[in-house]
Amino acid sequence: MAEILIKNGTVVDGVSKVSKKADVLVAKGKIVDIGPNLNPKAKTIINAKDCFVTPGFVDIQNHSDSYLTLLEQPEQSSLLTQGITTIVVGNCGSSLAPLPSREAIKSVQKWHNLAGVNINWDSFEEFLVSLSGLKLGVNVASLVGHATIRRGLIGDQARKLSEEEVRVLEKLLKAALDQGAIGLSLGLVYAHEVDSSADELIRLAKIVKQSGKYLSVHLRSETANITESIDEAIFLAAQTGVKVKISHLKIRGPSNWHLFEHVLNKIENAYHQGIDISFDVYPYSSTWAVLYTYLPKWAYEGGRAQISRHLASGVDRRKILDYLRHQELGFERIVIASASGNKAFVGKSIAQIAKNQSVSGEEALINLLSGLEGSIIVFDHNLSDEQVELFVSSPLSVIATDGAGYSRKTEDLVHPRCFGAIPKFLQMVREKKLMTWEQAVRKITSEPARIAGLDLGVISKDKAADLVVFNPNEIVGKADYNYPNQLPVGIKTVLVSGVQSVEGNMLHQAAGRVIRK
Ligand SMILES: [Zn+2]
Repeated sequence: MAEILIKNGTVVDGVSKVSKKADVLVAKGKIVDIGPNLNPKAKTIINAKDCFVTPGFVDIQNHSDSYLTLLEQPEQSSLLTQGITTIVVGNCGSSLAPLPSREAIKSVQKWHNLAGVNINWDSFEEFLVSLSGLKLGVNVASLVGHATIRRGLIGDQARKLSEEEVRVLEKLLKAALDQGAIGLSLGLVYAHEVDSSADELIRLAKIVKQSGKYLSVHLRSETANITESIDEAIFLAAQTGVKVKISHLKIRGPSNWHLFEHVLNKIENAYHQGIDISFDVYPYSSTWAVLYTYLPKWAYEGGRAQISRHLASGVDRRKILDYLRHQELGFERIVIASASGNKAFVGKSIAQIAKNQSVSGEEALINLLSGLEGSIIVFDHNLSDEQVELFVSSPLSVIATDGAGYSRKTEDLVHPRCFGAIPKFLQMVREKKLMTWEQAVRKITSEPARIAGLDLGVISKDKAADLVVFNPNEIVGKADYNYPNQLPVGIKTVLVSGVQSVEGNMLHQAAGRVIRK
């Protein structure tokens, strides 16, 4: 007997240009039939009247691992309730595996304090085994983080690697890819990667290409030098033939916003020249950033110890102040989202903190980082709605959260994208008529799955029954910056491997699986 029959809905299957009225039948975790007026006996019947039935959403740019919520809140309810059934973690240069030394895991501490975390793996394979022991709410696949293996190899140093070291890095990467990692991620802006040479990056990209996987690239610059940074990503793809996906494409700071058409043209031209390039974007005009990346590069190269040393030195502090004064920092729009060292700052803008301390915004920023014991993450309202709409609408974009999964009860001030990115995107599609529904669904299902090389994101017979039923006329992403943990409206049912994981706002059993490739 079939387990679940989804009746009376409109199937938007993730690939077809036209959707159709059809019922979907699910048994043993798989889709077993799709067609009009199916009428077998099923244990559960879901009435999808007025709703779309779509593949489960694939979040290709996810940080649940680096925020450690994957381990601490594996049910990942803020993602599941958005309709996300699969996440790709290990982005932006940092993954939880492999760990060639204990130092490697520290690549995630810029996002989250590592205290109390139980790490009982070294290899990528062991990590996947450990993950499969958790009650995962969503399916999880992971990239290998470049900073993670680099830091595992040379520790807390920022420098070019020797020939011998690059060879070790190649081996580490290859082993992790053989053990099921789905690609490599770069976080070229971060302290432990800024010094990577072109030769190192090309050699690693070649290994990724040979394995048939992809490169996820957090660009070196998202401000004035973004054009060169895009060129760097295109260069890596052109030199090696590797598939490249740029992470969270955005241009920060009003004086750089004019670059967005130029940036988009560059990516589209590369695509038309045969380069397999795409990008993900989240539908919000505020970033969620690690505060130390606001410093000049030389001040954070070398990691935390070096940052503290520079900030404590009178000469360096003056140089940093001078640098910050020449940046376009709107201190009233930079708000502390989390500060593991001092919760009293959370929710305050740097302008407010500066006023309380009777110092300038630049000095307040330096003071915050000088007292740095844990990580400081900020919201910065520094993107334009116009660029967000343009990037969302590009045929080369997919939509992702760039967030992490949290339980409903989280007290952290997290970015609203952790609770509402995909529903907010669908709401934008309806309200602004940015594209057809079929195109919109493709951007959150089959296209991210294609990039990540996952056999998911399509409704067809024998595929895993990761499915979402939502009402396109009602869907709203309600999460905002003050109250991020508000659940979306309009998502009716979410199935993971044929298990009803979300029904209305109610969570049921966790049915996520670990994906190896
Ligand atoms: Zn990133």
